[in-house]
Amino acid sequence: MAWREDKFYFERTEQLAIEAMNDGDDGFSSILVDENGEIVMEQKNEAFTLKEPTAHDTIELVRRAVKKYPPEFLSQCTVYALMEPCVMCMGALFWGNIGHIKYAVSEETLNGLLPGGLEIHSREFAERSPKPMHSEGCVPERKEAVEIVKTWVRSLGVQV
Ligand SMILES: [Zn+2]
Repeated sequence: MAWREDKFYFERTEQLAIEAMNDGDDGFSSILVDENGEIVMEQKNEAFTLKEPTAHDTIELVRRAVKKYPPEFLSQCTVYALMEPCVMCMGALFWGNIGHIKYAVSEETLNGLLPGGLEIHSREFAERSPKPMHSEGCVPERKEAVEIVKTWVRSLGVQV
């Protein structure tokens, strides 16, 4: 498979995020795309399913990916995430040797809808990394992805 435009990959994260919500989990997901543009792994948020608040999609994706692929392979991969990775997930990406990250909805947008999150941006983390890391959000943000996040926030009883 050849590289597709970002929209293609983000649409897949949106489908998976909806599935995660239907499972009772938080409405987020991440996918791993190899250097040829092929989706090689998918991961939904599993915080509810696993009764584990740290079971964010991105860190769970990295945990699976490092068991399956060597670091050289992972260094050429890109993670597409519906939500900007938190500092914990950025740490996992760093240790997992994955330096290319693209996300649909920023931490800033989430905090505008649901205050109280960690406002440590993935870009700040990436800039401080001693090895190459680049985290980039959609500009403008994808309306479809923001709607999914809003639906998830509403499911927590917060009016947005
Ligand atoms: Zn996270």
